[in-house]
Amino acid sequence: MTTPTRRALFGAAAALATTWAAPRSPLAQQPPQQQPSGPHSLPDLPYALDANQAAIDPTTMEIHWRRHHASYVQNLNEALRDHAAIRDMPLERLLASLDQVPEQVRTRVRNNAGGHANHSMFWQVMGGQGGEPGGELAQAINRDFSNFATFRNRFNQAANGIFGSGWAFVTVNRDGGLEIVTRPNQDTPLMDGNRVLMGNDVWEHAYYLRYQNRRAEYTANWWNVLNWDRIAERYDAARAGRLTI
Ligand code: MN
Repeated sequence: MTTPTRRALFGAAAALATTWAAPRSPLAQQPPQQQPSGPHSLPDLPYALDANQAAIDPTTMEIHWRRHHASYVQNLNEALRDHAAIRDMPLERLLASLDQVPEQVRTRVRNNAGGHANHSMFWQVMGGQGGEPGGELAQAINRDFSNFATFRNRFNQAANGIFGSGWAFVTVNRDGGLEIVTRPNQDTPLMDGNRVLMGNDVWEHAYYLRYQNRRAEYTANWWNVLNWDRIAERYDAARAGRLTI
Protein backbone atom coordinates (compact mmCIF):
# COMPACT_ATOMS: atom_id res chain seq x y z
CA MET A 1 0.00 0.00 0.00
CA THR A 2 1.41 3.39 -0.92
CA THR A 3 1.46 6.18 1.60
CA PRO A 4 -0.27 9.30 0.33
CA THR A 5 2.04 12.29 0.15
CA ARG A 6 1.51 15.30 2.37
CA ARG A 7 0.59 17.23 -0.75
CA ALA A 8 -2.09 14.68 -1.72
CA LEU A 9 -3.51 14.69 1.78
CA PHE A 10 -3.52 18.46 1.87
CA GLY A 11 -5.16 18.53 -1.56
CA ALA A 12 -7.89 16.16 -0.43
CA ALA A 13 -8.48 18.15 2.74
CA ALA A 14 -8.61 21.39 0.77
CA ALA A 15 -11.09 19.88 -1.67
CA LEU A 16 -13.25 18.75 1.23
CA ALA A 17 -13.00 22.16 2.87
CA THR A 18 -14.06 23.78 -0.39
CA THR A 19 -17.08 21.49 -0.55
CA TRP A 20 -18.10 22.29 2.97
CA ALA A 21 -17.42 26.00 2.61
CA ALA A 22 -19.73 26.29 -0.39
CA PRO A 23 -22.58 28.67 0.40
CA ARG A 24 -25.66 26.81 1.51
CA SER A 25 -29.10 27.98 0.64
CA PRO A 26 -32.04 26.96 2.85
CA LEU A 27 -32.80 23.28 2.53
CA ALA A 28 -36.02 23.76 0.60
CA GLN A 29 -34.28 25.72 -2.11
CA GLN A 30 -31.47 23.30 -2.74
CA PRO A 31 -31.46 21.38 -5.99
CA PRO A 32 -31.07 17.62 -5.73
CA GLN A 33 -27.52 16.40 -5.34
CA GLN A 34 -25.62 16.46 -8.56
CA GLN A 35 -26.59 13.39 -10.53
CA PRO A 36 -23.96 11.35 -12.29
CA SER A 37 -24.64 10.29 -15.84
CA GLY A 38 -26.95 7.45 -14.86
CA PRO A 39 -28.24 4.92 -15.66
CA HIS A 40 -30.32 5.39 -12.48
CA SER A 41 -31.90 8.62 -11.33
CA LEU A 42 -33.70 10.01 -8.30
CA PRO A 43 -37.46 9.84 -8.94
CA ASP A 44 -39.64 12.88 -8.33
CA LEU A 45 -41.80 12.77 -5.24
CA PRO A 46 -45.40 12.23 -6.40
CA TYR A 47 -46.65 14.84 -3.85
CA ALA A 48 -45.53 17.85 -1.83
CA LEU A 49 -43.01 17.47 0.99
CA ASP A 50 -45.73 18.18 3.56
CA ALA A 51 -48.18 15.62 2.14
CA ASN A 52 -47.26 13.05 4.80
CA GLN A 53 -47.43 15.42 7.80
CA ALA A 54 -49.78 13.04 9.61
CA ALA A 55 -46.77 10.74 10.03
CA ILE A 56 -43.63 12.40 8.69
CA ASP A 57 -42.53 16.04 8.97
CA PRO A 58 -41.50 17.85 5.77
CA THR A 59 -37.87 18.29 6.83
CA THR A 60 -37.49 14.55 7.31
CA MET A 61 -39.17 13.99 3.95
CA GLU A 62 -36.79 16.38 2.25
CA ILE A 63 -33.59 15.07 3.82
CA HIS A 64 -34.70 11.49 3.32
CA TRP A 65 -35.51 11.97 -0.35
CA ARG A 66 -33.03 14.59 -1.53
CA ARG A 67 -30.07 13.44 0.54
CA HIS A 68 -30.41 9.81 1.57
CA HIS A 69 -32.18 8.46 -1.49
CA ALA A 70 -30.07 10.61 -3.81
CA SER A 71 -26.92 9.16 -2.24
CA TYR A 72 -28.05 5.62 -2.95
CA VAL A 73 -28.67 6.57 -6.58
CA GLN A 74 -25.34 8.32 -6.93
CA ASN A 75 -23.39 5.51 -5.26
CA LEU A 76 -25.17 2.93 -7.40
CA ASN A 77 -24.32 4.76 -10.61
CA GLU A 78 -20.71 5.06 -9.51
CA ALA A 79 -20.52 1.36 -8.65
CA LEU A 80 -21.93 0.43 -12.06
CA ARG A 81 -19.81 2.86 -14.05
CA ASP A 82 -17.10 0.42 -15.14
CA HIS A 83 -19.29 -2.67 -15.44
CA ALA A 84 -21.01 -2.58 -18.79
CA ALA A 85 -22.57 -6.05 -18.46
CA ILE A 86 -24.76 -4.95 -15.53
CA ARG A 87 -24.92 -1.20 -16.08
CA ASP A 88 -28.18 -1.15 -17.97
CA MET A 89 -29.99 -3.94 -16.15
CA PRO A 90 -33.39 -2.93 -14.80
CA LEU A 91 -33.14 -2.37 -11.05
CA GLU A 92 -35.27 -5.36 -10.07
CA ARG A 93 -33.25 -7.66 -12.31
CA LEU A 94 -29.96 -6.34 -10.97
CA LEU A 95 -31.12 -7.06 -7.42
CA ALA A 96 -32.22 -10.56 -8.37
CA SER A 97 -28.86 -11.20 -10.08
CA LEU A 98 -26.32 -10.10 -7.47
CA ASP A 99 -24.35 -13.29 -8.10
CA GLN A 100 -23.58 -11.88 -11.57
CA VAL A 101 -22.26 -8.62 -10.14
CA PRO A 102 -18.45 -8.48 -9.97
CA GLU A 103 -17.31 -9.23 -6.46
CA GLN A 104 -15.43 -5.96 -6.00
CA VAL A 105 -18.64 -3.93 -6.31
CA ARG A 106 -21.20 -6.50 -5.18
CA THR A 107 -21.73 -5.12 -1.67
CA ARG A 108 -21.99 -1.54 -2.95
CA VAL A 109 -24.48 -2.59 -5.60
CA ARG A 110 -26.49 -4.63 -3.09
CA ASN A 111 -26.72 -1.77 -0.58
CA ASN A 112 -27.32 1.05 -3.04
CA ALA A 113 -29.54 -0.72 -5.57
CA GLY A 114 -31.55 -1.99 -2.60
CA GLY A 115 -31.71 1.54 -1.17
CA HIS A 116 -32.83 2.95 -4.50
CA ALA A 117 -35.55 0.33 -5.01
CA ASN A 118 -36.79 0.45 -1.43
CA HIS A 119 -37.09 4.22 -1.30
CA SER A 120 -38.68 4.45 -4.76
CA MET A 121 -41.38 2.06 -3.53
CA PHE A 122 -41.67 3.86 -0.17
CA TRP A 123 -42.53 7.26 -1.75
CA GLN A 124 -45.10 5.60 -4.00
CA VAL A 125 -47.15 3.97 -1.27
CA MET A 126 -47.53 7.16 0.78
CA GLY A 127 -49.15 10.53 0.08
CA GLY A 128 -52.62 9.24 0.90
CA GLN A 129 -55.14 9.55 3.72
CA GLY A 130 -54.70 6.13 5.32
CA GLY A 131 -57.88 4.30 6.16
CA GLU A 132 -58.34 0.82 4.74
CA PRO A 133 -58.14 -0.67 1.26
CA GLY A 134 -61.16 -2.00 -0.57
CA GLY A 135 -61.80 -4.47 -3.35
CA GLU A 136 -59.64 -7.47 -4.03
CA LEU A 137 -56.76 -6.23 -1.90
CA ALA A 138 -59.07 -6.06 1.12
CA GLN A 139 -60.24 -9.60 0.36
CA ALA A 140 -56.65 -10.82 0.15
CA ILE A 141 -55.79 -9.20 3.49
CA ASN A 142 -58.82 -10.80 5.12
CA ARG A 143 -57.94 -14.16 3.58
CA ASP A 144 -54.25 -14.10 4.59
CA PHE A 145 -54.43 -12.24 7.93
CA SER A 146 -58.06 -12.66 9.13
CA ASN A 147 -58.75 -8.92 9.11
CA PHE A 148 -57.17 -5.53 8.53
CA ALA A 149 -56.45 -4.81 12.20
CA THR A 150 -54.55 -8.08 12.57
CA PHE A 151 -52.63 -7.36 9.37
CA ARG A 152 -51.62 -3.91 10.62
CA ASN A 153 -50.67 -5.19 14.06
CA ARG A 154 -48.55 -7.99 12.66
CA PHE A 155 -46.81 -5.63 10.25
CA ASN A 156 -46.07 -3.13 13.01
CA GLN A 157 -44.78 -5.85 15.32
CA ALA A 158 -42.42 -6.96 12.57
CA ALA A 159 -41.26 -3.39 11.90
CA ASN A 160 -40.83 -2.53 15.57
CA GLY A 161 -38.91 -5.76 16.17
CA ILE A 162 -36.17 -5.08 13.64
CA PHE A 163 -32.88 -4.69 15.49
CA GLY A 164 -31.02 -1.75 14.00
CA SER A 165 -31.69 -0.55 10.48
CA GLY A 166 -34.00 -2.30 8.07
CA TRP A 167 -37.38 -2.58 6.47
CA ALA A 168 -40.67 -4.36 6.97
CA PHE A 169 -42.39 -5.40 3.74
CA VAL A 170 -45.56 -6.99 2.48
CA THR A 171 -44.69 -9.22 -0.44
CA VAL A 172 -47.18 -10.28 -3.08
CA ASN A 173 -46.93 -13.35 -5.28
CA ARG A 174 -48.43 -13.91 -8.72
CA ASP A 175 -51.52 -15.48 -7.15
CA GLY A 176 -52.07 -12.41 -5.00
CA GLY A 177 -50.87 -14.09 -1.80
CA LEU A 178 -49.53 -11.69 0.82
CA GLU A 179 -46.76 -12.16 3.34
CA ILE A 180 -45.08 -9.93 5.93
CA VAL A 181 -41.29 -10.12 5.92
CA THR A 182 -38.39 -8.05 7.26
CA ARG A 183 -34.96 -7.40 5.84
CA PRO A 184 -31.88 -5.77 7.41
CA ASN A 185 -30.11 -2.71 6.00
CA GLN A 186 -31.28 -2.02 2.42
CA ASP A 187 -31.94 -5.64 1.52
CA THR A 188 -35.21 -6.31 -0.24
CA PRO A 189 -37.38 -9.29 -1.21
CA LEU A 190 -36.54 -8.30 -4.80
CA MET A 191 -33.20 -10.02 -4.14
CA ASP A 192 -35.12 -13.30 -3.90
CA GLY A 193 -37.10 -12.54 -7.04
CA ASN A 194 -40.21 -11.65 -5.03
CA ARG A 195 -42.40 -8.59 -5.43
CA VAL A 196 -43.04 -5.92 -2.81
CA LEU A 197 -46.56 -4.60 -2.33
CA MET A 198 -45.57 -2.04 0.31
CA GLY A 199 -42.94 -1.46 2.94
CA ASN A 200 -41.88 0.79 5.78
CA ASP A 201 -38.41 2.15 6.42
CA VAL A 202 -37.35 1.85 10.05
CA TRP A 203 -33.87 3.26 9.69
CA GLU A 204 -33.57 6.02 12.31
CA HIS A 205 -33.16 8.60 9.51
CA ALA A 206 -36.79 7.89 8.58
CA TYR A 207 -38.25 9.13 11.86
CA TYR A 208 -35.68 10.45 14.32
CA LEU A 209 -36.38 14.21 14.03
CA ARG A 210 -39.98 13.87 15.17
CA TYR A 211 -39.97 10.63 17.11
CA GLN A 212 -36.41 10.17 18.41
CA ASN A 213 -36.36 6.66 19.94
CA ARG A 214 -40.14 6.16 19.70
CA ARG A 215 -40.19 3.95 16.63
CA ALA A 216 -43.52 2.35 17.53
CA GLU A 217 -45.21 5.77 17.42
CA TYR A 218 -43.81 6.34 13.93
CA THR A 219 -44.87 2.94 12.62
CA ALA A 220 -48.37 3.43 14.08
CA ASN A 221 -48.75 6.87 12.44
CA TRP A 222 -47.37 5.67 9.10
CA TRP A 223 -50.70 3.99 8.32
CA ASN A 224 -52.35 7.43 8.30
CA VAL A 225 -50.51 8.46 5.12
CA LEU A 226 -50.78 5.29 3.07
CA ASN A 227 -52.26 5.66 -0.40
CA TRP A 228 -54.47 2.60 -0.79
CA ASP A 229 -55.42 3.46 -4.36
CA ARG A 230 -51.77 3.37 -5.33
CA ILE A 231 -51.13 0.19 -3.32
CA ALA A 232 -54.12 -1.46 -4.99
CA GLU A 233 -52.59 -0.58 -8.37
CA ARG A 234 -49.38 -2.25 -7.26
CA TYR A 235 -51.38 -5.28 -6.20
CA ASP A 236 -53.01 -5.56 -9.61
CA ALA A 237 -49.69 -4.99 -11.38
CA ALA A 238 -48.01 -7.72 -9.31
CA ARG A 239 -50.67 -10.26 -10.22
CA ALA A 240 -50.37 -9.30 -13.88
CA GLY A 241 -46.57 -9.68 -13.72
CA ARG A 242 -46.11 -5.97 -14.40
CA LEU A 243 -44.81 -4.78 -11.03
CA THR A 244 -41.10 -3.99 -11.08
CA ILE A 245 -39.92 -2.37 -7.87
MN1 MN B 1 -34.43 5.52 4.29
